Amino acid sequence: MRILKGDITSFKADVLVTAANTYLRGGGGVDAAVHQAAGPELLESLKDHNGCETGDAVITEAFNLDAKYVIHAVGPIYEDGNNEEAKLLASAYKRSIELAKSVDAKSILFPAISTGVYGYPLEEALSIAVDSINLACNELNFLGDIAMVCFDGKTYSLLSELLNQ
Ligand code: ADP
Repeated sequence: MRILKGDITSFKADVLVTAANTYLRGGGGVDAAVHQAAGPELLESLKDHNGCETGDAVITEAFNLDAKYVIHAVGPIYEDGNNEEAKLLASAYKRSIELAKSVDAKSILFPAISTGVYGYPLEEALSIAVDSINLACNELNFLGDIAMVCFDGKTYSLLSELLNQ
């Protein structure tokens, strides 16, 4: 897994993952940036979906983004860690890789799902991200390129430590 720093919409890949909410109606943070860069058709295309459960994801076209698809992954809102947050966060990553594989994507960019407004403790969320991405790639035999895009220095340095990069 590679680590990139910056705004996810400034990178090119087959699939760009955004951290969406269950309503799939656009949100703040990374989702706002993705909708802004993709254009209004992205929101339009999400109206075909009747929302998305936490821990699941849906796939759409990418419109004006430099990508083929956007995967809208719904991570958990962190409460106290006793509400299946870890399982749901891992599931959001795994479902995204499954969907990416289903369209034969060769490269995926992930943001650090749930670590912004959703309040997941950063170190724990990154460790779950790394483990679940590795596990899902092995289980699903996904051989493409995966990068985590870190928007801030703290996320970047913690992830670099975690991956010894
Ligand atoms: P969530 O609601 O799942 O917590 P957020 O969008 O609030 O989602 O935050 C998830 C992560 O995405 C945070 O680490 C945040 O700093 C980061 N982020 C915000 N904007 C961008 C962006 N344009 N590109 C990549 N990551 C971003």
